[in-house]
Amino acid sequence: MAINGIGDEFDLISRYFAPLAAGAPGALGLTDDASIVDVPEGQDLVATSDSIVAGIHFFADDPAIDIARKIIRVNLSDLAAMGACPIGLLLSVILPRDTDEDWMSQFAAGLKADIDEFHAPLIGGDTVAGEGPLTLSMTALGAVPASQVLTRAGALSGDSIYVTGTIGDGTLGLGIAKGTLKGLDLSHENYLIERYRVPRPRLEFGMRLLGHANAAIDISDGLIADLGHICTCSGVGAYLDAESVPLSGAAQEALAQDKRRFADLVMGGDDYELLFTSPSEGDAALCDIAADLGVNITRIGAITEGNGLVVEPGKGLDLNITVGGYRHFR
Ligand code: ADP
Ligand code: MG
Repeated sequence: MAINGIGDEFDLISRYFAPLAAGAPGALGLTDDASIVDVPEGQDLVATSDSIVAGIHFFADDPAIDIARKIIRVNLSDLAAMGACPIGLLLSVILPRDTDEDWMSQFAAGLKADIDEFHAPLIGGDTVAGEGPLTLSMTALGAVPASQVLTRAGALSGDSIYVTGTIGDGTLGLGIAKGTLKGLDLSHENYLIERYRVPRPRLEFGMRLLGHANAAIDISDGLIADLGHICTCSGVGAYLDAESVPLSGAAQEALAQDKRRFADLVMGGDDYELLFTSPSEGDAALCDIAADLGVNITRIGAITEGNGLVVEPGKGLDLNITVGGYRHFR
């Protein structure tokens, strides 16, 4: 392959990707066929993969820096949900043939910013030119103390249900980017677009949840659907207090415009916050961890016996919610 003004894939790898492997000696400077991964003694290896495609998960004309950060962050968010510490990232790129040097350097700058911020070096990947839309696929490797990994399956009746951050910003940001949501305060619109384009993986917080949470998931499909995944995997039900779902100022403005939007906020995807359950007696410890890390957490309900999801509607909230297999609404 040859990319405008850059050369072939070997030039691309050595110029843009190899510098991002500097933190991982086992990556061999991305000059060999594969890299060597060292899993710390007493730890389990955790692996996850996520792909994003222009026109589906992001817009082709989004800033290259943000696209780079999104592919890293959606993957790190999965590690966060398992309580894992990142070891390294593998990135496969299928680049349109008209990709240029300027785009590539912005893209590499975005990768570097997050690789540095999250201490997750690039340790491999693949680089090809394609006829289709820009397609990025990443595999993230992480480590977690042996047998302590957090899964979706450990929720117990009586657990409190918590979320980090605020819910619904990702889907509202997508609405603004698509032009279907209009008329919000400009600073709110910018905030929401940023939340959609550059999610915040709750890595530190996820690691600190080990030993405190019984189950966790990152919210990528939407709060309701992802709570449903925890219920299915754990064989439990849940009670959700709609009024307590934490909303950003921007989401509150969107809701004030139209109460019917509440259902979108809890059913829309792309939040990349953590949803987790923990025994109620651990609430104080959780609050300490959250305060320590400067992360807001909110208790939004409780795990129940059985297998239904009961949503307690708040005053004035429109709750036309559909939740697949879970639907006992009051
Ligand atoms: P092969 O043809 O044997 O698969 P490549 O020439 O594709 O090898 O890749 C050479 C090295 O560069 C490998 O270590 C590979 O993991 C790495 N690499 C290729 N593309 C990327 C990329 N986009 N990001 C990170 N590493 C990459
Ligand atoms: Mg290859």
